Amino acid sequence: MKKLLLLLCVSLIYAAEVNLTKDESEFIKTHTVKCITTGSWAPFNTVENGKLVGISVDIWNIIKKRLHIKSECLITSWPNVIDAIKHQRADLTIGTSKLPSREKFAIFTKPYAEFPIAIATKNNVGFIGSMNFLKNKKIAVGKNYTADLLLKKHYPNFQIIEVENVKQALKLVSEGKAYAAIDIMPVLVYNINKYSFANLKIAGKTPWKFELRFMLSKNNKLLASAINKVIDTITPQQKKQIYKKWVHVTYQEGYSLKEILSVIFIASIIIGLLCVYIFSLKKEIKKRKLLEKELQKLSIIDSLTGIFNRYKIDMALKQQISYAKRNKTPLSIIFFDIDHFKKINDNHGHKIGDEILMELTELIKNNVREYDIFGRWGGEEFIIILPNTDLIQALKVAEKLKNKIESYPFKYIHHLTCSFGVTELTEDDTSDSIVIRADNYMYEAKKRGRNRIVSDLNYHF
Ligand code: GH3
Ligand code: MG
Ligand code: MG
Repeated sequence: MKKLLLLLCVSLIYAAEVNLTKDESEFIKTHTVKCITTGSWAPFNTVENGKLVGISVDIWNIIKKRLHIKSECLITSWPNVIDAIKHQRADLTIGTSKLPSREKFAIFTKPYAEFPIAIATKNNVGFIGSMNFLKNKKIAVGKNYTADLLLKKHYPNFQIIEVENVKQALKLVSEGKAYAAIDIMPVLVYNINKYSFANLKIAGKTPWKFELRFMLSKNNKLLASAINKVIDTITPQQKKQIYKKWVHVTYQEGYSLKEILSVIFIASIIIGLLCVYIFSLKKEIKKRKLLEKELQKLSIIDSLTGIFNRYKIDMALKQQISYAKRNKTPLSIIFFDIDHFKKINDNHGHKIGDEILMELTELIKNNVREYDIFGRWGGEEFIIILPNTDLIQALKVAEKLKNKIESYPFKYIHHLTCSFGVTELTEDDTSDSIVIRADNYMYEAKKRGRNRIVSDLNYHF
């Protein structure tokens, strides 16, 4: 009783689902639908144990059942199928694609299934995410199959090998004579399994889809619209179930976990090595920069006193002379030497002598202008370059310094004096000539009794 009720409900649902017009119902009632198909297009329509089976056959059976269609199906070759539909010797064929050329002699239902056109390769090929990957590679396809037509249209430069059927295309790939075979995904999968191509797999999808439809002869408009109404009611779950029955896909959707992990592993090692390399490189760069700075400093700085050395003073003097000559500005130098420094060393030791050199340097540094250039010429001899300073002003500076030194309470000695040579740049001067003149004046100051200044003024007197 329960079963009967259930059956009644199901038939009521079916009846409610497919709402046929009077004409459609009448057409179905009065016709035996002549179906024609090939039995060689697995897994859509194929013959197993003398029986027509496949995805398209299952869909056709659902439709027949729901519409209570009386039908007989003839199995023949594809050209015969086309010819029969064209000349209306048959009403419909159960699975094909819509092409403009076919629309001239036939009508099509809505698609009842849609499949990607896929790429089969050997197992060792990674995921193929782009058609460009197949450039310069041999691709096997069934001659004039949908994939063949699409490839020729969109990728005319690709190396296409046209074969008789999908089995041959897969064989070429399996034997390494072609890189890939392209066809509708279920067709590829079914044939890989059927012919046990154990070294083949689905490596990717093309951008194209293949839609399966019923193709009817032109006089079957009512039947086509009735079929469309049933197609609308077939749920995705039902389609999935049918598809699963025929196709066991081992499709590589992106990369396998093993591949991803090995890529991550290798990438981690490379990144790690790179980090270590960058780290040590940074350390090395820092070290070198410090060294460079140190070297640069050493090359221009006197290591004992921290003021400019002779090399830097010589360079600075050349620059200042050229600037002064170009801009017609005065330039003077003060050359001075510690008096009886040898005695200080002898009496207090070399170390104390060094301390006094440093103390004197500090004292001078604190008593010249910021833009005066002060350096150690060698031993206990110093030079001050005074930019934009004439002789009279330079003499004033020298006088001030002489007094400061003379009165300064050095740490280890009570009294220290220096002898000074002061001179102003002349038009004919070079850096050598001005220093020699200042040095001569300084010696003149020594001769005259030390702790004094000799300059161009004295010279002219
Ligand atoms: P004068 O008044 O004629 O210049 O007499 P002086 O003793 O200063 O001149 P001299 O040229 O005879 O001696 C210079 C001394 O300066 C010799 C050396 O011992 C000392 N001296 C040169 N450079 C340094 C240094 O870096 N440290 C120390 N402690 N002494 C130095
Ligand atoms: Mg001296
Ligand atoms: Mg000296």
